[in-house]
Amino acid sequence: MLDLFTIFSKGGIVLWCFQTTADMLAPSVNALIRTVILQERTGNNSYDHNSLTLQYKLDNEFELIFVVAYQKILQLSYVDKFLNDVHLEFRDKYKNTLQNKWQFQDIDFMSSFNKILAASEKWGKTQAKLPKQMRTFEDSVKSKKTVASMIERKGEEKAIKKSVKIVEAKPKIEEIEIPVDDGIEEDVIAANRAKMAQKLSKKKTEKPVTKSPKSPNVDKAGKKPRVWDLGGGSRDLPDLDRSKDKPEDAKSEYSPQTDMVGRMQGSIRDLEVESSDEEYSSDDDDNVEPQKNETSKQKSSGMLNMFKGLVGSKNLTHETMKPALEKLQDHLINKNVAIDIAKKLCDSVEAKLAGKVLGTFDRIATTVKTTLTESLVQILSPKRRVDILRDCLETKKLGRPYVMAFCGVNGVGKSTNLAKICFWLIENEYSVMIAACDTFRAGAVEQLRTHTRHLNALHPKSKHGGREMVQLYEKGYGKDAAGIAMEAIRYANDSRIDVVLVDTAGRMQDNEPLMRALSKLIKVNEPDLVLFVGEALVGNEAVDQLVKFNQALADHSSSENPHIIDGIVLTKFDTIDDKVGAAISMTYITGQPIVFVGTGQTYTDLKALNAKAVVHALMK
Ligand code: GDP
Repeated sequence: MLDLFTIFSKGGIVLWCFQTTADMLAPSVNALIRTVILQERTGNNSYDHNSLTLQYKLDNEFELIFVVAYQKILQLSYVDKFLNDVHLEFRDKYKNTLQNKWQFQDIDFMSSFNKILAASEKWGKTQAKLPKQMRTFEDSVKSKKTVASMIERKGEEKAIKKSVKIVEAKPKIEEIEIPVDDGIEEDVIAANRAKMAQKLSKKKTEKPVTKSPKSPNVDKAGKKPRVWDLGGGSRDLPDLDRSKDKPEDAKSEYSPQTDMVGRMQGSIRDLEVESSDEEYSSDDDDNVEPQKNETSKQKSSGMLNMFKGLVGSKNLTHETMKPALEKLQDHLINKNVAIDIAKKLCDSVEAKLAGKVLGTFDRIATTVKTTLTESLVQILSPKRRVDILRDCLETKKLGRPYVMAFCGVNGVGKSTNLAKICFWLIENEYSVMIAACDTFRAGAVEQLRTHTRHLNALHPKSKHGGREMVQLYEKGYGKDAAGIAMEAIRYANDSRIDVVLVDTAGRMQDNEPLMRALSKLIKVNEPDLVLFVGEALVGNEAVDQLVKFNQALADHSSSENPHIIDGIVLTKFDTIDDKVGAAISMTYITGQPIVFVGTGQTYTDLKALNAKAVVHALMK
């Protein structure tokens, strides 16, 4: 029993519609358009909304969308076939009209529709009666694995292991000194950093001012105390060695660094990503030589290439696109996009292009690549405005602090990046209260205390009209985190502090009691922004973390409209070279923007995501 069938153009004109229950279905179709079709997620051909399942088919030649909706609880095996048949019939019947610039008058499609529906239902019934056949090897998932994707799986496992290691490698309370990335495989990071540093130094000679200072290379030989390069390389500041840190000394050592003030005012600088790899090209699928450098040899063969491209008009079908799509999928996985997401992205490109007819000079691989590139930019571009500075101003006008909560697994850089964000806020003249709600991990409170001291040293009261720019609200360990956050917010409210940054304990996404506690903290304190902190090093793990964090926040909230993750802080971007896939996986999963990117271990290593730069690095 179908509730709705509608055929509309990509431009929004409804050509034909059949519906049983009026009105109620419009929100579901609108949700499908908003969250699937406009957001480049057309890979699956089905979408659930409220109690409905909506299945859809795109006709890319005539730019049409066919949508059928039915109750989710119904198992309608014939819908795929039905959708296909209606699509074909509609195209055949109205081909001329569609070609003649849409001169539609009355569309009488009801009788054809009913006929196809009856035939499909009958077909469904006969299918149900047939005994289930065993799958052949060719039908199995295993047979479809490419060699490259198998190799990548190993790498992905490695990435998962890496994040597990981070948890294990956390220092105990006696050793508050926090080593540089002790959980990550240091040789990999060192190699990536060396590559990045090389690139940066090359770049610096060309464009000296555009990059912020980078942290020094990690010595493979062993752990080193973290170095906070606060002076941006131009001044020698003492190391932030927590094991030796003495508060009395700190005051005299950390004199105000006047040249730092103002460096991060206003919006955060855009991230720059570069790749040294040769540009990715899959042009060979079209029997056309890739055009890399304009060498003389290639120039002379230019005419030949042109003739190779003259293969007549090409119809884009599953078969013709398959080689290019497989190549692209492997390429994405190689760049650390989670396997499932890479597949969905390619499916989405296929759905978007299937049926299109290419012009004589268009090449399939190039078309597929361009379409994917456009989809990726679309995915990474924020769907809504996240303007923290403006929102802080708004809440200030309302006489209350703006509250941001940071969550994520252990060791991803929550506290470090919270401190960077704090620095950025102070640079923009907002006073900050840090709520130390990680009452779990030994050393967490001390870590924030050190940050608070250093930030105040960089921005002393004297420079801000006697106002202390950062304060720490802490109640030690073992207490209820939600309660501490509440007290901190109240205190900030009473003391007219502009922003509260709530640090929470790192937790694994499968730890139910801790996820419940996080959900409680968010529900009770209603922060303005919930940020998920995730490191750019993760591949498939990123998806699991985000899905489970979001799910836990929704499940344990007991509210009809639970507050889930609003945005992402993507950390350790400086350690991944051009394997930028985590950025795609994370935004694809949540549909939420990457608000900040952490690019190192100094307070200024905070950037805004530049979607085009990331996609460029990804597609190279
Ligand atoms: P938390 O457990 O999530 O609070 O993580 P921490 O803030 O303690 O950070 C864990 C480690 O990651 C520390 O050694 C940080 O210096 C390091 N870290 C954090 N952010 C970045 C970043 O953007 N780049 C690099 N290279 N290291 C980072």
